[in-house]
Amino acid sequence: MQIKTAEFIKGVVGTDSILEDDKLQVAFFGRSNVGKSSLINSLCKRKNLVKVSSSPGKTKEINFFLINGEYYFVDLPGYGYARGSRDAQESIRERIVWYLTTDEVENKKVVLVLDIKVGVTEFDQEVIDILVQDNVPFILIANKCDNLKANEQKYAVQKIRHAVNDLPEVPIVLYSSKTGIGRNELTARIFE
Ligand code: GDP
Repeated sequence: MQIKTAEFIKGVVGTDSILEDDKLQVAFFGRSNVGKSSLINSLCKRKNLVKVSSSPGKTKEINFFLINGEYYFVDLPGYGYARGSRDAQESIRERIVWYLTTDEVENKKVVLVLDIKVGVTEFDQEVIDILVQDNVPFILIANKCDNLKANEQKYAVQKIRHAVNDLPEVPIVLYSSKTGIGRNELTARIFE
């Protein structure tokens, strides 16, 4: 499966007819600055499809991109940006949980982006619990893996695996938008 075309469709903040479109929705979730925009751009081999945030946490909308005319990539707002107000952060969390749990979306998969050096945060864990409970398939990304040496990567991945209670069916993909590591594996796993 090759990503040939990627086109921004719209941003939503709540119920919208696009949610009920029966195409697969692949939602990308992660803390601000985790490298989510860079990851989506690198997957689509586009430099600026998603803006790499000069001001992290700016985007509050849920952004839909049509991939190959067949699937959506859904860019969820980054959460946890320290400069955002408490209320703003809370509304972002609520929006994310709403998207993940709404039954308006029939067919979804989640790509949960973690910084390999930070691992699973409290809100990541909350989201993982929701996904497990709702039987939503997800993939964990150990992102910015170029920041660690191979042996350190192995240890970090073990820690992430442990944080998800050793769920064997959850893939953990080492990824780096800088080096391109993980790109083929992630594409294959998204569309398998
Ligand atoms: P977002 O806020 O999650 O969308 O993160 P961005 O994609 O805007 O990236 C945040 C910062 O991390 C930027 O300074 C990027 O250059 C950097 N970054 C993104 N991906 C990688 C990566 O794979 N490796 C390294 N070392 N840095 C990265």
